[in-house]
Amino acid sequence: MSIEAAYELLSERLSGPVRRDEPLSRHTSFRIGGPAALFAECDSLGDLSAALSVAADEGIPWAVLGKGSNVLASDAGFDGLVVVLGREFKRYAIEGEHLRCGAGVVLGVVVQEAFRRGLTGLEFAVGVPGTVGGAVAMNAGSRDRWIGEIVESLTVVSADRGLFRVRGDEVAWGYRHAGIPRGGVVVETSLGLREGDLEAIRRTMEASLRRRKRTQPLGVPSAGSTFVNPEGDSAGRLIEAAGLKGTSVGGAAVSEVHANFIVNTGGATAADVLELVRIIRHTVREAHGIELEPEIRFLGSFEPA
Ligand SMILES: Cc1cc2nc3c(=O)[nH]c(=O)nc-3n(C[C@H](O)[C@H](O)[C@H](O)COP(=O)(O)OP(=O)(O)OC[C@H]3O[C@@H](n4cnc5c(N)ncnc54)[C@H](O)[C@@H]3O)c2cc1C
Repeated sequence: MSIEAAYELLSERLSGPVRRDEPLSRHTSFRIGGPAALFAECDSLGDLSAALSVAADEGIPWAVLGKGSNVLASDAGFDGLVVVLGREFKRYAIEGEHLRCGAGVVLGVVVQEAFRRGLTGLEFAVGVPGTVGGAVAMNAGSRDRWIGEIVESLTVVSADRGLFRVRGDEVAWGYRHAGIPRGGVVVETSLGLREGDLEAIRRTMEASLRRRKRTQPLGVPSAGSTFVNPEGDSAGRLIEAAGLKGTSVGGAAVSEVHANFIVNTGGATAADVLELVRIIRHTVREAHGIELEPEIRFLGSFEPA
């Protein structure tokens, strides 16, 4: 594996700039993370395919990032290639009740567009940060609605299979999990919406936004919910009941507003967040006998939690 060789190849083959040692703190909502050895914004399918095949040929690890709103990146960074989706992946079109959407589109943009056109089905996603690709990969949503329910199809690219399409009902959707074929990057999705009542859509979205503002620490860097809700319970309730609200390690703290959010109060490192994750898991296990599983995704190398 040679980062230097991969850098040369990527610079030759991609139309956009390829950066060395790009701080991941610039690309995560936690504002945490050391450098990615290689960082490429892929503006086209050609760029993305080339990036994936260079990574495969050179044997270097790679990862795709959306807006990094569900990611904790290691303080040591990522010793491989991080790709983000650029220009060609930021387009969308609505045909009747079908929204065809590039994976790099910001989710909030299409939530608002669907609303403007009186299309129902995406109200649950109002206020969820990130891209459409990230939302699909995470099966993002609320407690009882998630994006997988409205995915008609996904277009995926991988180094070994090239470009292929998967029907929404062929994907194994789970709670904050989507069975995207291994090594695949989602590049486009078709979402099925329905004609609805504009006022009803507005009311649902406004109520949801009000609830978010009341219950989430929105002005402070975080990665949303740290843990998935265990069956029949809420991670936030369990953490709060274990007396952990406000507990901090370095610059990372359990939010006073929502106990399932870890916030970066200033200068937090990934090590701070990880230590807090360990403390929370241990304390909740002791207090309630429940093992909390992280919802956030880890990028780079970490000591096992
Ligand atoms: C304040 C706040 C509130 C939040 N509220 C919610 C909520 O209500 N509901 C909810 O579900 N989540 C919530 N989140 C978490 C987060 O916003 C979602 O998981 C979001 O969908 C992630 O999108 P992203 O583009 O930022 O993905 P990233 O965080 O960049 O990536 C997340 C994962 O998806 C993978 N990925 C990204 N793009 C692609 C792609 N194109 N193809 C394949 N894999 C890909 C990444 O490799 C990574 O493993 C919240 C986060 C914050 C900060």
